[in-house]
Amino acid sequence: MFAALFALVAHASPLSAPRPDLQVAALPASMPAPTSAQVIHGALDAAFVSSGRPYTPNAVEQQRWYRLTLSHDWNQPTSPVLNFSGATYIRITVYAPPDYQPHELWFAQTEQAPRFTRHHLAVELPHDLRAGQPIYVQVASDSFTRQIKANITDLARYQASDLNHVRLTTLFASVQFTMILAALCLWVVLRDRVLTYFIGYAAFQLMYQMLMSGELYELPGGRLLAPLDTHAPWLFAALSAPLSMSFIIEFCDLRQITPFGARVLGWMRWPFVVAAPLLCLPFAIRTHALASSFNLWFIVSSTWSLGVVILAVIRGGRQARFFLVAWMPQVALTIVRTTQVLLALDQPAWLEYGYPFTMAFSSIVVTIGLADLSLRARRERDMAHHLADHDALTGVLNRRALVRRLHAAITEARLQKEPLALLFLDMDHFKSINDRYGHPAGDACLRAVAEAIGDELRPGDWLGRYGGEEFVIGLPGASHDNAMAIGERVRHRIEALHVHTRGSTLQTTVSVGVACLEGLADTADDLIARADGALYRAKTDGRNRIVSHDPIAATGS
Ligand code: GH3
Ligand code: MG
Ligand code: MG
Repeated sequence: MFAALFALVAHASPLSAPRPDLQVAALPASMPAPTSAQVIHGALDAAFVSSGRPYTPNAVEQQRWYRLTLSHDWNQPTSPVLNFSGATYIRITVYAPPDYQPHELWFAQTEQAPRFTRHHLAVELPHDLRAGQPIYVQVASDSFTRQIKANITDLARYQASDLNHVRLTTLFASVQFTMILAALCLWVVLRDRVLTYFIGYAAFQLMYQMLMSGELYELPGGRLLAPLDTHAPWLFAALSAPLSMSFIIEFCDLRQITPFGARVLGWMRWPFVVAAPLLCLPFAIRTHALASSFNLWFIVSSTWSLGVVILAVIRGGRQARFFLVAWMPQVALTIVRTTQVLLALDQPAWLEYGYPFTMAFSSIVVTIGLADLSLRARRERDMAHHLADHDALTGVLNRRALVRRLHAAITEARLQKEPLALLFLDMDHFKSINDRYGHPAGDACLRAVAEAIGDELRPGDWLGRYGGEEFVIGLPGASHDNAMAIGERVRHRIEALHVHTRGSTLQTTVSVGVACLEGLADTADDLIARADGALYRAKTDGRNRIVSHDPIAATGS
């Protein structure tokens, strides 16, 4: 799976080493904050200290000033593009030649027509930029520091890399969107709560994803999110988290499998519900405490969820297994990302795209899991329907279903102006089989007889168990003579049948009564009564024979 990720992001590797090099110098943080005029007129040039590293970090509660210079005159075919990575939601102002006018860069910028994606904060510089010509950069303060990295790349290469970024973010977002649509289609049919939770959390997750790539700001209404600043992604995470926890509880059937774990997980949703509106309050924007407690709660609740899901898998939860498979890559990625942040290592491209990739992957697996869930629900429903219509011992139609089938067959026969015949079978001296061999042997005999009758019928015919050892066969389209022939064939087949059960071999015979649908006033009850009457005569005439309600047509052994 991760191999697929590597293959996908191979083209989006970090921008290749800039030529000429960018040199970074910083005003010491200890200096009193200068005005921008002081800096851009070169009054403080002597105070800038070369840093030797391409980082331009921000600072807590204090703005920072940097001076960037080229090691050589710009010698590439297209203009230089100054870009900052790792600067999401940090306001950076660039003062560049020739006019040193302030150019503000900000991730949630919506006022200007975009030239580049929001992947990095980027500005195009003049093509004739010379070595040593200063570019002043003011990095605003924030509630915590970030590793912001300055790069200089030629326009052609920057745009090519930007296109790859668009391709990848669009791919992952499209997969997520498609899965949400698939779940919506399922929801329209099933109206299942678990689908509602999935659609809810996946939709907020998609918005989070589109916000982190900046695409959401480009959509209609996207600018409304700009005032929320860095809290906008937190807001979508806070909306997605409780829904995903509800989803885990329902989907993995945690209330049944791990009731305590499910109850605690249920409570853990509430802080997110409280955090969501708080994140929208204006004074909250600069409160680092809110973001860090949110982060902490996110880690605690995710760890608890993971533990409960693993426990559910151990206890045999099928859905929990699906969810764990869907979730594992995201968990692995979080561990790698945390390690990278803790060790202050550069974020490689595959890690940057890892989140949207694993989210898309997890949506696919969860959607398959949802489809599996609804398929099984449907199978159970079909099974319940089958049991309601079929006899548990022999598997043929039960009395209620066969009477219903007979009514339908009569209507159909009248409509098609076709004949309809009914055979009423009763096993001969069946009581004595039970008496001699026992009830289980009698049951085996009933099953064998039902199966043998079934073998003799055409696809349109139907067979039902009317009572104890009485069966009814419906023969749509069969004339009186056809019905007599089929009845005789069935009688003969049963006569030749040997039932091997519990060390004994049983033989049995059946008596058959035949009746055909007559005038328009003929009802299902009439038809059954006539067939039953004919059966009675078959019994009194000596059994193991077939008798028609029409007395002339009777035959037998
Ligand atoms: P006849 O030839 O007159 O039909 O004789 P019979 O013994 O078959 O007739 P009767 O209706 O008196 O007996 C039917 C027997 O079928 C009685 C009952 O023990 C048996 N029976 C009914 N339902 C079941 C069943 O589900 N399993 C078994 N093993 N026997 C059943
Ligand atoms: Mg009988
Ligand atoms: Mg009987």
